Amino acid sequence: MIHEKLPSQMTKMSLRNVEAAFAALLLAFATPTLAQETCPNPGDATNVDDRAMAHIRYLADDRLEGREVGTRGARCAADYIAAQFREMGLEPAGGDDSFFQTFRLRKGSELGNTNALVIGGTQYAVGSDWTPLGFSANGRLERELVYGGHGLSQPGNPDDRYAHIDLSGKIVVLEWGDPVDAHGVSTRGTPHSKATIMEGRGAAGVLVLAPEGMPLPSLEAEYRAALGVPVAVVSNDVADAIRAAANESSTANVVTDVRPTSMEARNVVALLPGSDPELRDEYVIVGAHYDHLGFGGDGSLAPDSRDVHNGADDNASGTAAVIEIARALAAGPRPDRSVLFITFTGEEKGLWGSAYWVMEPTLAIDDLVAMLNLDMVGRMSEDNVTVFGFGTAEEWDEIMDLAIADMRRPLQVARAPDGYGASDHTSFYVEGIPVLHFFTNTHADYHRPSDDWQRINADGLHRVAELTALVTAHLTAGETQAVPMTLLEQGPPSASEGPSSTSGYGDAYLGTVPDMTPRDSGMRLNGVTAGSPADLGGLLAGDVVVELNGMPVGDLYEYTDALRSTKPDDVVDIIVERDGERLTLTVTMGRRN
Ligand SMILES: [Zn+2]
Repeated sequence: MIHEKLPSQMTKMSLRNVEAAFAALLLAFATPTLAQETCPNPGDATNVDDRAMAHIRYLADDRLEGREVGTRGARCAADYIAAQFREMGLEPAGGDDSFFQTFRLRKGSELGNTNALVIGGTQYAVGSDWTPLGFSANGRLERELVYGGHGLSQPGNPDDRYAHIDLSGKIVVLEWGDPVDAHGVSTRGTPHSKATIMEGRGAAGVLVLAPEGMPLPSLEAEYRAALGVPVAVVSNDVADAIRAAANESSTANVVTDVRPTSMEARNVVALLPGSDPELRDEYVIVGAHYDHLGFGGDGSLAPDSRDVHNGADDNASGTAAVIEIARALAAGPRPDRSVLFITFTGEEKGLWGSAYWVMEPTLAIDDLVAMLNLDMVGRMSEDNVTVFGFGTAEEWDEIMDLAIADMRRPLQVARAPDGYGASDHTSFYVEGIPVLHFFTNTHADYHRPSDDWQRINADGLHRVAELTALVTAHLTAGETQAVPMTLLEQGPPSASEGPSSTSGYGDAYLGTVPDMTPRDSGMRLNGVTAGSPADLGGLLAGDVVVELNGMPVGDLYEYTDALRSTKPDDVVDIIVERDGERLTLTVTMGRRN
């Protein structure tokens, strides 16, 4: 699952925009394949009786380094999954008679060889005095400099002399950040935002002066599209000289040379052909993402850690379930409809693998009956599983009732309507396909290095896999139990609202682990991060939050809205129900890293 986009945020985003942004990452040109390093031997990890646990132990082994898309660990994971599918006799279905659907993605940027900056006879060294940014246009300019202050217009301020400067054809020199923002940073204060505005005002290029103590930014992870003008950051060591040159309208010679880097990404796709000549062209997808967060960084809830994020629950668990569901269905009587098993890559980056499959489906998408997604199914407690997507087709309730009745030890299924969520089923629901997402809830190890195989509930995992296999069997059965799916429209997600921020929660940080099981009222906490503002304020796992910052909290959505109404350092009252009593706790909000 993606932590920045819990279901409440996903419903507020334009998913079409997500897909459009993703499409921009796809590379049209061929690039050389990475050198193939050998993969760790699964031998030790798989020397156990329980096959599903064996898969998790291999996929979540430190030697697979967190399976981040485009890395050796992800390649080894995909090889392992494909070998499992091959061994059980499934047909390769990724295209070109391969189990792999391979695509190349923009990974980041790097400097080319010809970068140069010369002002008033002084040559500045690229990489130490200055650097183009990853979204800079490539170009060669000889232009007059002009000083533009912070480059932010301040409506109503008569002293705002930079708002009307003529920038046309000039290279504008700007100060870093946003002095109006309490913390010096804001969306409008980023170099990308400023350069976009300056380009619109006719500037030929942009130099941003770094503040004291800030190292030059790295291009490595920058994959936004190039702007129309060269954009560079200048080190604070030479900022005074360049500011002075701009105030004297000196001429600058600038050459920018930035090149995209790419990575290989692979979905693993296998087909169990149906037996009914009339129905075998129709199919059901059973899928799970196999990628995780590598060594942390973006998306990690332990942002300072560079330890391996093994992702045993997220989502070696779902991957293992898909493999064992495939084995069970392949061994049993052949279903009438076909089943397509897909393990996706790049989910943690923003549903990349599923978005790609939907864009370039390896079977006709019109024949797809439904998509079942398993993401985080390894931490079941007390027979409870949450299934999202009941609002995406009328027949789900009936099918689920039949499947539960077939179970040896029936599970408690909490049914939630949402078809848009923080995982791969969303890519299919956007295309009008009925979906279900099986999920055994978040926990304190979610998106942290401690999400390890030792904490997996093996029995719970087997039972979720059994339930999913039974749902699949009902969906793929012919005459007797064929259920034509009727899509229920949940309406398109509305445009984003609220303060601009890359995270739906804004900058403020509380440190709670929400329980995503639907409930009648309030927002139950599955856990509280040690040392977090929530912990220091006395919140406990099991508390049900009913009010936060003066806003009533009836569910996860309202909880998210209430959190978004807070800012770092705000002192906030939180009313919780604990052991039948209402308590008011006072918490000082922290800052999200
Ligand atoms: Zn995740």
